[in-house]
Amino acid sequence: MGRYQVEIFLEPGKGRGLRTSRFGKGLEPGTLIITERPYCYALLNGEEENHCHYCLAEERKDQKLLVCPGCATARYCNEQCQKNAELDHRCECRGYRQLMLLPFHLRLIGRIIYRQHVRKLETGPLDPLNDLCSHMEDLTGSFGMDSQLGYLARMVDKDVIPNWAYFQRLFGKVTCNCFGISNSELKDIAVGVYPQAAMLNHSCRSNTIATFQGPNMEVRTFTHIGPGEEVFHAYVQKGATTDRRRDDLMEKYFFLCQCADCLNLDRDLRMRTVKCPNCEGPVLPNPESKSTYEKCPRCEHDEFDEDFHDKIDTAVQYADNVLTKERRWCNGLEYELQFRQNCLLEIDKVLHEDNVNTIRILVGAFHAAAGLGEWTQAIDWGHRLERGLQ
Ligand SMILES: [Zn+2]
Ligand SMILES: [Zn+2]
Ligand SMILES: [Zn+2]
Ligand SMILES: [Zn+2]
Repeated sequence: MGRYQVEIFLEPGKGRGLRTSRFGKGLEPGTLIITERPYCYALLNGEEENHCHYCLAEERKDQKLLVCPGCATARYCNEQCQKNAELDHRCECRGYRQLMLLPFHLRLIGRIIYRQHVRKLETGPLDPLNDLCSHMEDLTGSFGMDSQLGYLARMVDKDVIPNWAYFQRLFGKVTCNCFGISNSELKDIAVGVYPQAAMLNHSCRSNTIATFQGPNMEVRTFTHIGPGEEVFHAYVQKGATTDRRRDDLMEKYFFLCQCADCLNLDRDLRMRTVKCPNCEGPVLPNPESKSTYEKCPRCEHDEFDEDFHDKIDTAVQYADNVLTKERRWCNGLEYELQFRQNCLLEIDKVLHEDNVNTIRILVGAFHAAAGLGEWTQAIDWGHRLERGLQ
């Protein structure tokens, strides 16, 4: 755990966040700004049988996972992982079998209350979750919060249930602040609460990327961030239209995004930009009609024949195929990277840098390169992305 080169700020009306130091040159792309162990984490439903509950490694064919004799539920790679987990697991072992029957966000809250029941200090002023926002005003009555908590309360030992107001706040804090934890193939396998990283505010034009080593999170910059500038993380898919992103954010995090991208209404049109068949300049779709294009601002070309429309349709279709086949990730990152590079070669012929399809393919290529530790390549994609998202 440690924070490098970023500081917490608190501004009236804006709230709290992280920014680079006002002194110095800012941060270069690829700079590690946060490494953090989660306060608590839980495997997603369906992943608990074949992953180590401590280091989250997948079970190997030649080595069966070790099962905790106490609960016959927690599984570990070996005695070392079991030993490392013990401090936390001995608080929850008696109720762990029941916890694993719950949906993952309730598992996570359940693990926390078992732990805090034993380590009382963690619920007082030293509660690592003290600073997290719980969005109580928005949650009251929504999502059937009380019925979910009631369900959780029936599944755990009675003595660990905290007072109801605290229980509700904990529910809010965990559901609004948890991060998905992905494995080396970028597949989500667990969720965790990271009190430091939770201080990063959202922007649809974020400047960081999070990767994981087991449950440990590393947050790096992927573009240059000037001195005193805020560091952001994107909570939701970047390559989606403004309406879609804002709906997602409102539903999950209870705010209407006011970032530069969301306030830029032209952006959605620009996300469908194609290349002029004559000069490759950016040609915008006609706002009135979906199937026609405006005159090229560079060469004034304005004839878009059937062949042109066909090529656009084929490129969009190609990108769509690549994007919807999520399971391809299981073929490994090298494969995914290659796959996306091939796709870019094709769609680059007709779709412009600003086009949402190009951006989404680039985001995946960026993540794949980052996941492979190919930082030079990742940063190249990052620069291209930055131009597209600008
Ligand atoms: Zn392990
Ligand atoms: Zn156990
Ligand atoms: Zn936004
Ligand atoms: Zn042109």
